[in-house]
Amino acid sequence: MNKSIQVRNPRTGKLDYEIVPPSNNLLEQKCLHLRQGQIQWQQIGVEGRIEALQQWKQAILSQRTNLTETLINDTGRLSISVLEINSFLSGIDRWCRLAPELLQESEKATTIPFIHLKQTLVPYPLVGVISPWNFPLLLSTIDTIPALIAGCAVIVKPSEITSRFVKPLMTAINAVPDLRDVLTFVEGGGETGATLIEYVDLVCFTGSIATGRKVAEAAAKRFIPAFLELGGKDPAIVLSSANLELATSAILWGSVVNTGQSCLSIERIYVAESIFEEFVDKLVTKAERLKLAYPTIESGEIGPIIAERQAAIIIEHLQDACEKGAIIRCGGQVEKKGGGWWCTPTVLTQVNHSMKVMSLETFAPIMPVMAFSTVKEAIHLANDTIYGLSAAIFAGEESEALEIAKQIDAGAISINDAALTGLIYEGEKNSFKYSGLGGSRMGSAGLMRFLRKKAFLVKTNSVPDPWWFECQ
Ligand code: NAD
Repeated sequence: MNKSIQVRNPRTGKLDYEIVPPSNNLLEQKCLHLRQGQIQWQQIGVEGRIEALQQWKQAILSQRTNLTETLINDTGRLSISVLEINSFLSGIDRWCRLAPELLQESEKATTIPFIHLKQTLVPYPLVGVISPWNFPLLLSTIDTIPALIAGCAVIVKPSEITSRFVKPLMTAINAVPDLRDVLTFVEGGGETGATLIEYVDLVCFTGSIATGRKVAEAAAKRFIPAFLELGGKDPAIVLSSANLELATSAILWGSVVNTGQSCLSIERIYVAESIFEEFVDKLVTKAERLKLAYPTIESGEIGPIIAERQAAIIIEHLQDACEKGAIIRCGGQVEKKGGGWWCTPTVLTQVNHSMKVMSLETFAPIMPVMAFSTVKEAIHLANDTIYGLSAAIFAGEESEALEIAKQIDAGAISINDAALTGLIYEGEKNSFKYSGLGGSRMGSAGLMRFLRKKAFLVKTNSVPDPWWFECQ
């Protein structure tokens, strides 16, 4: 029997839930079972899989109350938990709509007249998904749904920090006969994640750079593909021509939504010096209107810090910034209330890149704002990072913004808005620098990652090939 893990409630600080990771032997057995199930799953074809996923959706709808409740206990926030469920359900529908066309096999003539080409797609039998705590449901299913519809079996290891939602999700999976042999969630920590990699054919990992590196190394040893979606330190650039009402509202949302616990949070803001004070005043006024969701969950927009270890990082980044001369224009409190950790929306000025809050991922509702004098300087500052997930640019003219966007080293750029890849899944994007590795999770590539291409080359006429030996 493996050692159990106590799970903390982010609102109360109490360890009120327990998970028991599977033994290595049990994990291996589960993977073998899924591999067996995958054979039939592939055979029922895309239409059969769509039907099973739609049944899963119905089963989830009947578990909705339980699922919402467990997500609330996992994360301590209400409206985002509801949005997570909605986004997950619409993800099922989106892939069910797109898959039939994407999975079509093709046939065509080749440059050699008597050789015909049949192009087919073969799913990886077993996909492992390892996910983080900041959007527990969304990030444990964002790769799972396209992998399933591609014809793979999937084993998911969500974060040990937010594991409560697994129970109602498993109830919904077990209600669908075609699905229960090809999809399972296992509870456990890093060790379980590491062991899982030993038994799967492809791994999708979402989490920190440090763990991502370990996952990549383990996958490389096994010669299996690893798709890594890692941390970010997204910049926003605000030109003097920007609409400041719009820019401040969008940046505030992009920075503090989900208490800033989002990989694509705006974590650095660069503003043209001519509008700097006006921008900061507006941002501070709007930030001060937001309230903590304490003492009740409906009290405000800003939920608790989910992972206790993150509170220590936020305090460290704020202290380091203040010691190096940063000014707190609003917020700045990271405190314990009712056993949970809370951070008020915070605007900092007089910041520079020697500070941790400008160079490392803070994962908090903290908005450090820095002035720039030229566009060249703004681009340099935005690119002065090891991260390259996404970015935002605010400008009066689209062409002005696009010119800057081309020069930013990041995979997705929102123009006159922030964090749009969190809402729109169509655009294909790669993570730049240390923010990730592997094909795009977004767009149709998000499904094609789970398929290997196989070509059948068929000779249609019994003539010798031009390259054959003449003597034969
Ligand atoms: P983490 O790296 O600590 O953990 C992520 C997952 O990996 C957890 O399930 C954990 O149990 C597991 N794990 C730990 N050690 C492992 C090992 N050796 N082998 C296999 N699995 C292991 O990350 P976290 O703190 O849970 O999440 C926060 C991080 O995730 C942030 O850096 C954030 O930016 C990033 N993130 C990225 C995206 C994205 O799409 N790019 C989305 C959300 C979060």
